[in-house]
Amino acid sequence: MGKTIIIKNAWIIDPASSAKVNGDIFIRDGRIDTVHPGIALPADVSIDATGLFAAPGLVDMHVHTRDPGQTYKDDILSVAACAAAGGITSFVCMPNTLPPADCVDVLQHIIEKARRAAVRVYPVAAVTKGLTGKELTDMQTLRRAGAVAFSDDGNPVSDSAVLSAALKQSIESSSLILAHCEERKLSAGGLINEGKISEKLAVRGIPAAAENEATVRDIQLAAVIKARLHICHVSTAGAVQAIKEAKKRGVKVTAETCPQYFALDEELLLRRDADYRMNPPLRTPEDRMAIIEALTDGTIDCIATDHAPHTAEEKKNFLTAPNGVVGLETSLGAGITYLVEKRYVTLEKLIFLMSTAPARILGIQGGTLAKGQPADIVLFDPSEKWRVEPEKLHGRCSNTPFKHLELSGRVKYTVCNGEIVFPLSERMAADVP
Ligand SMILES: [Zn+2]
Ligand SMILES: [Zn+2]
Repeated sequence: MGKTIIIKNAWIIDPASSAKVNGDIFIRDGRIDTVHPGIALPADVSIDATGLFAAPGLVDMHVHTRDPGQTYKDDILSVAACAAAGGITSFVCMPNTLPPADCVDVLQHIIEKARRAAVRVYPVAAVTKGLTGKELTDMQTLRRAGAVAFSDDGNPVSDSAVLSAALKQSIESSSLILAHCEERKLSAGGLINEGKISEKLAVRGIPAAAENEATVRDIQLAAVIKARLHICHVSTAGAVQAIKEAKKRGVKVTAETCPQYFALDEELLLRRDADYRMNPPLRTPEDRMAIIEALTDGTIDCIATDHAPHTAEEKKNFLTAPNGVVGLETSLGAGITYLVEKRYVTLEKLIFLMSTAPARILGIQGGTLAKGQPADIVLFDPSEKWRVEPEKLHGRCSNTPFKHLELSGRVKYTVCNGEIVFPLSERMAADVP
C-alpha cells in the first residue's frame, strides 16, 4: 500500500461536479481515493481542515519563470515555490526566455528541471523562431516534445500572414495559440495607460486602442481559419466587447484576465512606482468594471497571473524599469477580496475561473477533485485577512502591485500529486513517521 493522506472536515468545493459538502478527502498513491464525510480509514498523514475550504489546486496558464537565461531574477524551482505558496499546483510558462523556448533543447531543459519543482510546470513554445514574428516554429515537433501551447507573448505576432499560417499549423497539430494582443504601432514607447494619468505625469501612453485593434484582428483571423485562439491578459472594455461579439458569432475564442485588471486601476501610477507598471498597463475604473462584468457573464473564461519577476534594482527607475509584476502568491486572495467579497462571483465560480476552466482550455489534468484524479488540492481560509508584505513572498523578486494591501483568503496547505508542497515545514514534519 502506498502513502496515504487524509484531509478531515473541510468544506469541499469541486466546480467540475458542482459539489459543495463538508467532509474528508482520502489520498492514496498521489491520487484522490475517496471524498466523503466521516472517512474512518487510517492514514500516514492527517490534516485537520476544520474551518478550511478544500478545492482543486489552482491552474495558472500565464507565468514567466525567467529560466533559462535570467535566473538571477528567478528560476523554475523558485517560481514553483511561489506557486505552491499561492495554492497553484499547475502553471504554464511562457517562452520568452534566453534563449527562447522555440526548439526542443530549451523545452527539454524546462521539462527536466521541472521534475524537481514543487508543482506541475507546462512549457509553452514560441510561435516564431526567436520570437521575432517572422519564421514559424515546427509546432508538430514541439508539441511532441512537450509544449502545451504556443505563444510569442511579449512580442505580438504583428504580421497577419505569419499569424494566419501559425493558426493553420495550430489546427494541423491540435495546438492552441495564446495571443498577446498589442498593436505596436500604437503602443510603442508607451509606459502606462494613455489618458488623464499619463497626461498628468507627462509620460507616453499605451492607448486602449492598441489592445482593442489587435484583439479584433487576431479574432478575425481565427474566425476565418476556424482555429481556436486564446487571448492573454485582457485589460480593456473594448477587448471585452470584441471577445463577446466573437463568442456570439461562434468563434472558438477563449480569454484570460489577471487580478491586477479586476482589482486595480491606473490611479496607482500617480505614485510613480514601477511596481505598478506592466503590459498591458493598469487601465481606467471603467475598464476594470468591464473586466469584472466579463468574468461574471462568461466573456472572459479564466484568471491567470502573468507572473513576471524583476529585481528591485531593475524596478527602481519608474521610467526605465521593465514591465511586469509578480502574482502567484496574491491571485487567490485578490480573487476572494475583489470578486467574492464584493459579491460579483461566488467562491465556487472563482475556483472554476482559477482552476477548472484553465485546465479545460489547455486540456491538462487538474481542476477537479473527482475520484482517481491526481491529488492536487489547495486548502485555504477564505475569511482570514493578511497584509501583502513584499519581503515575505517566496520568490527572489517581490515586484507586486498588491504591496501593503490587505487581502482576504489565506492558503494553508497546498498538496500536489499527493505531496504536501506548502508549507514546506509541514511537509518535513509530515514525512517523519
Ligand atoms: Zn503578454
Ligand atoms: Zn506575459
